[in-house]
Amino acid sequence: MSRPEIVISFAPELRLFVPSERRAGRTTVVTDGSSSLGHVVESLGVPLTEAGRLLVDGREVPVSHVPGAGETVEVCAVVRPQPVPGAPLRFLLDVHLGTLARRLRLLGVDAAYESEDIGDPALAALSAAERRVLLSRDRGLLRRRELWAGAYIYSDRPDDQLRDVLDRFAPALAPWSRCTACNGLLERAAKETVGERLEDGTRRTYDVFAQCVECGRLYWRGAHHARLEAIVEGALSEFGGAADAVAPPRLPM
Ligand SMILES: [Zn+2]
Repeated sequence: MSRPEIVISFAPELRLFVPSERRAGRTTVVTDGSSSLGHVVESLGVPLTEAGRLLVDGREVPVSHVPGAGETVEVCAVVRPQPVPGAPLRFLLDVHLGTLARRLRLLGVDAAYESEDIGDPALAALSAAERRVLLSRDRGLLRRRELWAGAYIYSDRPDDQLRDVLDRFAPALAPWSRCTACNGLLERAAKETVGERLEDGTRRTYDVFAQCVECGRLYWRGAHHARLEAIVEGALSEFGGAADAVAPPRLPM
């Protein structure tokens, strides 16, 4: 079988994934003549979740395209905001992204999170079963075929991770509407019905309460609120600008 040589280049956003000698621009690759372009791109280190359009001599091709000798391939980054078919937009985060999960929930974004390491196959199966976009910094996990959709998390800092996800997927924001502990929805709770579960000081100081419909956890504007408020305000000012980006629900708090 012939081993065609192609020329390939990657968008700047993708260059961290490829070997250093391929980061500057176009380089040549000898392929096996039968593998798809998607396989070639992955074998050079780029998760397909991060690849946008694939252009061959300027013409868009599917990942199944088998490169031929002399073709010039350009691998683009995903467009932002990235459309995810099959709304509603929901996420699944791997075991290393607990802080990001809690911050997404704080903003009302549906973010399931596995606090125990259930293993890559189980995570990928969960993504498929619940149609959730898997967020991970593990490139191997993002290569699993059974994933419904996935996205690489580029930073290891929660502030940057949150901005990256909001910028990339533009989820509707509904702050204070979801339980940060379990991802359940919050509903308004009457003080009379939850009073006996509160410390005296809390009962005297606060009047507005919300309760998680899943785990029953109670929320009120308590001690950590200033820090959380700052996260919410920052996200709304940067990403809540579009009229339809902020869902208008009855916020429980
Ligand atoms: Zn809960």
